Amino acid sequence: MIWIDLDETLVSTSEFPSEEVARVLLKFKGGSLWSSPRPGAVELLGALRALGEVRMLTTAVRVYAHAASVKFGFGFAPEEIVAREQWLKDFAVRAAGVDPRGILIDNESAVEWHFFKRSYLGIGRDRLLLLPDYMGMLPDTLQESWPKLVERAREIMSR
Ligand SMILES: [Mg+2]
Repeated sequence: MIWIDLDETLVSTSEFPSEEVARVLLKFKGGSLWSSPRPGAVELLGALRALGEVRMLTTAVRVYAHAASVKFGFGFAPEEIVAREQWLKDFAVRAAGVDPRGILIDNESAVEWHFFKRSYLGIGRDRLLLLPDYMGMLPDTLQESWPKLVERAREIMSR
């Protein structure tokens, strides 16, 4: 299974609109946030799904993660989104090591979460793929670099 982060990986989201970043208002139960999809994210997800099952693993809350997936066409079914409420609860009851053969794709500066997410999945650093943070600024490198990332994921999965 391929697990991919949401914030600063697939989207850039803020509480406030910005003059420098074109964000749209995402509405969900209990709130709203301004969010921008990363160029190339949909293409990346499509190519990853050709390799295997893809799930979102995010420290964000479920209602927002689901709203972002729907709004930006990321294509995650509700059961394919493991959001903060679920994985922190799973982790607390020591249901760690849920996918030792999995791969995690995360943004590089979220270092404090890499360890916890890897522990949750039961994977080593060798199964973690990092992307530069997406803060909404353009141009962004993913549009050009996603085929390389998919190739690295394919290589790890073949080990
Ligand atoms: Mg992140």
